[in-house]
Amino acid sequence: LDMKIEHTFTQTQPSQAFVQEKKKIGILGGTFNPPHMGHLVIAEQVADQLGLDKVYFMPNAKPPHVDLKAAIDPWHRARMVKAAIQGNSRFGIELLEVQRGGKSYSYNTMLQLKLEHPNYEYYFIVGGDEVAYLPTWYRIDDLLKLVTFVGVNRPGQPRQSNYPIEWVEIPDLAVSSTDIRQRLATNRSVRYLLPDLVAAYILENGLYQDERNDLHRPLL
Ligand code: ATP
Repeated sequence: LDMKIEHTFTQTQPSQAFVQEKKKIGILGGTFNPPHMGHLVIAEQVADQLGLDKVYFMPNAKPPHVDLKAAIDPWHRARMVKAAIQGNSRFGIELLEVQRGGKSYSYNTMLQLKLEHPNYEYYFIVGGDEVAYLPTWYRIDDLLKLVTFVGVNRPGQPRQSNYPIEWVEIPDLAVSSTDIRQRLATNRSVRYLLPDLVAAYILENGLYQDERNDLHRPLL
């Protein structure tokens, strides 16, 4: 009888102790060079419409598909993201890729996060422009097994894909980091396009003042 009790004990105790509630977690990966109102609206709308517990903004160290020769330091971008999400308790920052350095592949990152948080269901948020690039992503088919992809509309971008994507409708926002960098480089106003705290950080650190630093300009 003792043995039977002991057996029952070891069988049931651990599983009860480790039952953890599933959580719905959004991930918004990006370069955030700099973060802007578009990013905040996307994250808020997806969280609200899909009932997410939390959305983590995840700045990359180096995006795999862009020549980031001229992009600013990942820690500057991470600090700006931190400033941007201040005051929203549903938002957080995930620094894994910045800490790891090198090229950031979402598959590797999400595999690691899944191992660390087996009770999280991940919703990986991408704008319409990124959706078009999914076929080129490293191990996309394996990544699709780890996360649910959530697409948000972006002006001028098609809303279709061969991949299973859950679309969330947001108000069309024609704001982009590229546009903001160009305004900053030519001394134009960026007020209301990004949070005041991010604008203050940019001014304090003298970022984006050189037009030649623009990522999307053809290199001469
Ligand atoms: P850049 O102009 O430098 O390419 P970006 O404005 O696209 O930058 P990212 O940091 O590359 O900013 O974007 C992170 C994610 O947010 C991407 O999935 C992108 O598609 C999405 N996103 C950014 N801005 C918008 C927007 N205005 N509407 C919809 N999705 C957006």
